[in-house]
Amino acid sequence: MNVVETREQLAAARAAARGTVAVVMTMGALHEGHAALLRTARAEADTVLLTIFVNPLQFAPGEDFDRYPRTLEADLALAREAGVDIAFTPTPQVMYPQGPPAVRVDPGPAADQLEGASRPGFFHGVLTVVNKLFQLTRPDVAYFGEKDYQQLGMIRAMVRDFDLPIDVRGVPTVREPDGLALSSRNRYLAPAERQAALVLSRALRKAAQAPEPVAAGVAEFATEPQVKLDYFVLTDPMLGPAPAHGPARLLTAAWVGGTRLIDNIEVQLP
Ligand code: AMP
Repeated sequence: MNVVETREQLAAARAAARGTVAVVMTMGALHEGHAALLRTARAEADTVLLTIFVNPLQFAPGEDFDRYPRTLEADLALAREAGVDIAFTPTPQVMYPQGPPAVRVDPGPAADQLEGASRPGFFHGVLTVVNKLFQLTRPDVAYFGEKDYQQLGMIRAMVRDFDLPIDVRGVPTVREPDGLALSSRNRYLAPAERQAALVLSRALRKAAQAPEPVAAGVAEFATEPQVKLDYFVLTDPMLGPAPAHGPARLLTAAWVGGTRLIDNIEVQLP
């Protein structure tokens, strides 16, 4: 595995890459969810390129940028295990040599709902860094997790609207055996919070079986006073208004103590 930190090193590694090139973008603190993306990439492409970058642009003041877990040595071990060929680990100075960029990707009105409503500027920051990393890594295919379902849709929209020659593929959410979706932020949870956090996946599962999914999901959150619900919504698979029947998506976000978690599942409405 070739670990590169500068643009020059990345360009040399990219120029030497053979066949189809897959990219998996992460903020590090890698877990089995990231590993699933890397293994899928390994199975489907000739060269697997991993990026690890905690992007300051997508954190609002007061969010967890400073305390976001940084575990580079363990991340590189997991990457080697997953068969990564190139790991790009830039510093903010490498990514933003002029400081915060004046020109940013406008995510459009779809970014005003759900995560974008709770975290203003989040998708501007995400799409700007994803666009930059696409330019720097020039992948044929890129893998993103359904765990961040709205983000996956926003990235697909950017690729379509900007005519980027990249095949974006979604990978299903990896969960703990008890249902908790894997997240780098799960490390913040104290044991009692870890237990309380199960309400997210439980509410989604119960809602998916209920005649009134949103009411059922919200009622399940009421059983867990330690957890403060941000949103629990039913949409169509493209995050538009909920359909009367057929495929749909349930999405939720909630605060467990000082930790904000998100989760979502597919549903079939009868
Ligand atoms: P992050 O490091 O949290 O920014 O995530 C990097 C990539 O891994 C994104 O495409 C995420 O959607 C994906 N990812 C994170 N957690 C999971 C999970 N539990 N299952 C599948 N993909 C995930």
